[in-house]
Amino acid sequence: MESLKLAARELEKANELLLLGHMMPDGDCLGSMLALGQALRAKGKKVEWAVPDPVPSNLAFLPGAAEVKVGPQAVKGAKPDLIVVLDTSTPERLGDLRRPFDELRRSGAKAMLIDHHVTAIPFADHNFIFPEAAAVGEVVFELLREMSLFPLTPDIATCLYTAIVTDTGCFQYETTLASTHRRVAELIEVGVKVREVSLRLFEEKPREQIVALREALKTLRFSPCGRLAWMWLDRETMVANGILGEHTNGLVNYARQIRGVELALFFWEVKKDLVKVSFRSKCHLDVNRLAGLFGGGGHIRAAGALIPGRLEDVVARVVAAGLEALGREGIYNSDRGA
Ligand code: AMP
Ligand code: MN
Ligand code: MN
Repeated sequence: MESLKLAARELEKANELLLLGHMMPDGDCLGSMLALGQALRAKGKKVEWAVPDPVPSNLAFLPGAAEVKVGPQAVKGAKPDLIVVLDTSTPERLGDLRRPFDELRRSGAKAMLIDHHVTAIPFADHNFIFPEAAAVGEVVFELLREMSLFPLTPDIATCLYTAIVTDTGCFQYETTLASTHRRVAELIEVGVKVREVSLRLFEEKPREQIVALREALKTLRFSPCGRLAWMWLDRETMVANGILGEHTNGLVNYARQIRGVELALFFWEVKKDLVKVSFRSKCHLDVNRLAGLFGGGGHIRAAGALIPGRLEDVVARVVAAGLEALGREGIYNSDRGA
């Protein structure tokens, strides 16, 4: 991560920073933002945080989370000399913060992007993109080391641990390397309470999340070949059960974890004629490419897209494209029925 020296230098030059993250912020996004921001504050810098959508309730325990502002109003009056955008592959993923982001740049603020998506667009003045990193949390970890901010505080370590444990699917994805575990070992050494974090993240889910699973499982469908599984939640079901977008996080994994399934899709209706799709593959298919066909992106095994259209139509189109991609890749399902 040689260019991190440059990133460190730019951060050190700035006095007032605004840290931004993506729509429907996740553990990597918020954990990385909070870790970097708190470390910069310790260096005497003025730091603010903003995200376009609310902090999910299971991430509210993150040290500093209460200070993260939500929506474009939150950025009003900010006069940063540097805006740092984390875990956000395109300006569109800034959602409602995109306009204030552009306005602040027009009035002289510089922008820095720190990301790890394969499809990241270098839309800032300084772009630090590490597709090989399992999480932006790993990049921030190295950046803080570069800035001589070690030893980390337990709070900062907790934020980075959360970023890494969530984006690696609890160290299950192939992005997890020995170096990932070494970094995490250091984080635990400085005071991450692993069990407490795990409870908050994975064992204290809001009831609506499990109700969402119940409702989504009712829709579970398979392609005849058994390689593709998908589920969905329509607006009506979500409203009737108090299910919010954040409660759908991870549902797609239930479809992926079925034997023989290579591609899993999950659809939810954000509003009328707008559907959020999560794409996941198990071992072979490049879902980043598949999501790209619909204006989305992400990583090889996990990607997303926001697709305009009626839920039924979007499901039909994406399922058809998924089957075509599986066919094109010649992915043969030898496990079916085993
Ligand atoms: P999700 O299905 O929302 O958990 O997202 C999986 C991965 O795809 C994450 O790394 C996201 O950053 C990325 N992603 C999700 N939605 C989009 C989108 N609309 N455009 C580009 N990347 C996305
Ligand atoms: Mn993210
Ligand atoms: Mn990430």
